[in-house]
Amino acid sequence: MDKRTDNQVERNIPQPIRSDGAGTIDSGPRNIIQDIQNPNMLVPPKTDAGLVPNLKFSFSDTYMNLNHGGWSREITARELPIATTLAGVNMSLTAGGVRELHWHKQAEWSYMLLGRARITSVDQEGRNFIADVGPGDLWYFPPGIPHSIQGLEHCEFLLVFDDGNFSDLSTLSISDWFAHTPKDVLSANFGVSESAFDSIPSEQVYIYQGKVPGSLESQAVQSPYGEVPLNFKHELLEQTPIKTPGGSVRIVDSTNFPISKTIAAALVEIEPGAMRELHWHPNNDEWQYYLTGEGRMTVFTGSGTARTFDYRAGDVGYVPFATGHYIQNTGTETLWFLEMFKSDRFESVSLNQWMALTPKEIVQSNLNVGSELLNALRKEKSPVVKYPGFTYYPKNR
Ligand code: MN
Ligand code: MN
Repeated sequence: MDKRTDNQVERNIPQPIRSDGAGTIDSGPRNIIQDIQNPNMLVPPKTDAGLVPNLKFSFSDTYMNLNHGGWSREITARELPIATTLAGVNMSLTAGGVRELHWHKQAEWSYMLLGRARITSVDQEGRNFIADVGPGDLWYFPPGIPHSIQGLEHCEFLLVFDDGNFSDLSTLSISDWFAHTPKDVLSANFGVSESAFDSIPSEQVYIYQGKVPGSLESQAVQSPYGEVPLNFKHELLEQTPIKTPGGSVRIVDSTNFPISKTIAAALVEIEPGAMRELHWHPNNDEWQYYLTGEGRMTVFTGSGTARTFDYRAGDVGYVPFATGHYIQNTGTETLWFLEMFKSDRFESVSLNQWMALTPKEIVQSNLNVGSELLNALRKEKSPVVKYPGFTYYPKNR
């Protein structure tokens, strides 16, 4: 039997030693899997400095809420304290599994990760909405508007709410309301006998296993007031992307998805060797969800402070309002992620474009740079960049 400990199999074990020799080996208790996943935490770039709050949380480190019919887990300000603007919920439903009829004070924005689901809603004017959603589709339910989600097949999605302190476990649910209303009141409200409520759930149902519904047509409900005037669904992946060398970006906000008045987003694709360029956002904090691949982000927070974090599929990242950052693909597969903002508009400022549109003399004297950089600056914004001969390739692969 091989009695070597993990630490002795040196070629697979990263050590906290920088290429200049700073640091020393870690022979003590350690979570090696986490160290392998966080090379820029174990050996930070020399440019990292100062106090920066935690800007990463993985859904793998959250509590799984298991139900018959599906599961959910969430990353809120309780998990990631700096994330006060938005909260995220990762949910999966079985075929027929139902996230029950409910509503909440916060707006709900969702991105369909896999599988198909049926969503329903009714607005304050009695106009209704029933639609099927599949991979790459979005939905948006305005604050206080009731809705439901049902899996048509095994499906998974990311829900984002415009309040970091939100919890999907404390929403206003139809079963919860029924359970906490006197039966004689229910009877008086609907004009039916109290016995009609003999079998109602005694507490919030949240998620339950239902039957797979029939076609959209078979479930159609005609409202005398018609359908919601602004579509609650948007096909983001069908949108023509902004293509750049190294990747693509699809931006969705109230300009092309008018109902989405409080949440703006960008779906970003970064090829191996490419990066989301150095930039910041002049409107609000950024909440990120990593869909595929691996990347690193350094956030520059001013006053000589910056910190680098590693992300991979299933992780959430956060960027405080107006702080500078980039996201570099550090893996071998394409990195896809969502950047989200509590805003009606997607807005970003490009470092490169800013410099290109500023008199050369001031850029030159300010940074003490020469014509090589000045001539390379670009007046057109390129959200993702990849330059032949200047790409990053993962080490030790
Ligand atoms: Mn909801
Ligand atoms: Mn950004």
